[in-house]
Amino acid sequence: MNIESRLAQIGSIEESKTGAVTFPIYHATAYRHPKLGQSTGFDYTRTKNPTRSVLESAIADLESGDAGFACSSGMAALQTIFALFSQGDHLIVSLDLYGGTYRLLEQIMSRFGITASYVDTNDLAAIEDAYGECTKGIFIETPTNPLMMVTDIEAVATWAKGKGILTIVDNTLLTPYFQRPIELGADIVTHSATKYLGGHNDVLAGLIITKGKELSEQMFFLHNSIGAVLGPQDSWLLMRGMKTLALRMERHEANATAIAKWLLTHPMVSDVYYPALETHPGHEIQSKQSSGNTGIFSFKMKEARMIEPILRHIRLIAFAESLGGVESLMTYPAVQTHADIPLDIRERVGVDDRLLRYSVGIEHVDDLIQDLSRAFDAAASELAGGE
Ligand SMILES: *Cc1c(COP(=O)(O)O)cnc(C)c1O
Repeated sequence: MNIESRLAQIGSIEESKTGAVTFPIYHATAYRHPKLGQSTGFDYTRTKNPTRSVLESAIADLESGDAGFACSSGMAALQTIFALFSQGDHLIVSLDLYGGTYRLLEQIMSRFGITASYVDTNDLAAIEDAYGECTKGIFIETPTNPLMMVTDIEAVATWAKGKGILTIVDNTLLTPYFQRPIELGADIVTHSATKYLGGHNDVLAGLIITKGKELSEQMFFLHNSIGAVLGPQDSWLLMRGMKTLALRMERHEANATAIAKWLLTHPMVSDVYYPALETHPGHEIQSKQSSGNTGIFSFKMKEARMIEPILRHIRLIAFAESLGGVESLMTYPAVQTHADIPLDIRERVGVDDRLLRYSVGIEHVDDLIQDLSRAFDAAASELAGGE
């Protein structure tokens, strides 16, 4: 069945008792045993919950994996994944990394003796250089946020298989609707489902998908033992959001492409970072491994002093963190999302004080361009008046 149909039908044929077309929310934390030595399959909700199970099967199917695990946030999913590793283990990690993942690795996992090297994961020579006998996994984001660097998943996964180490992909920005890393050789996929999968800026959730029986069993053990699981109410909300994923991603991509092209022609803008643009260095790989583009991109203004008035003058587009929801949000990575990443790493990847990140919503594209255009004009006249 096509992915659009599988998304729309999440949970709708699971409930045979009443025929309800959306799956009910099971708040029960405990489940009665029929008799000694028997179980309905559900004992205690941390281990397994009926509502969460429907979500977990759905995401495993959508990502072409063997098992899915729903966590209380994207960070909880990452913490659970990193618990696969032990003291002394080393990871190779994408350079332009989500700030929270960097913080988790550098300020928490490091205390447990797990180290990481940050490299441009599209440079196989750089990966080989970072590899050592303690390296146990490679963690990639593609495209990265905010600079939209694209990594060839298949090339990295093939290299990792040769070394016998795990390939882990954070697929938050593209979702399985546009990109399925397990089909390209990855072992583990993770999501901040708070973003596109939930899609409405109203649920915090994380997902893990594993390929292979042994890895799936290991992850089941960690998920249950650590206990950072998603509650039944949020599991339901997430499934509700996912039903419209296909429609939303199509509109996010169409809006983002039109706005990125408009920005390219604007005299106050110096650069636009969006893999859908043919001028983007990752365009070819992106087109090869994904069937579409994310709805978020970044751009640089010609001067840093333009940023403050622009953020003050946008109206329809909210000045807010996060991404992937139906509402348009704009943020200033150097100050907001990436403040925890040291200046030298930030500058090495290009997250400087002229960069804005825009998570394009599903509003009408004309209204969004008008909002930007008006904010740019207001900023320009303020700056001209002040001189
Ligand atoms: C938001 C985000 C996370 C963290 O997820 P939360 O749901 O906020 O905990 C991890 N990776 C990426 C790429 C993200 O955008």
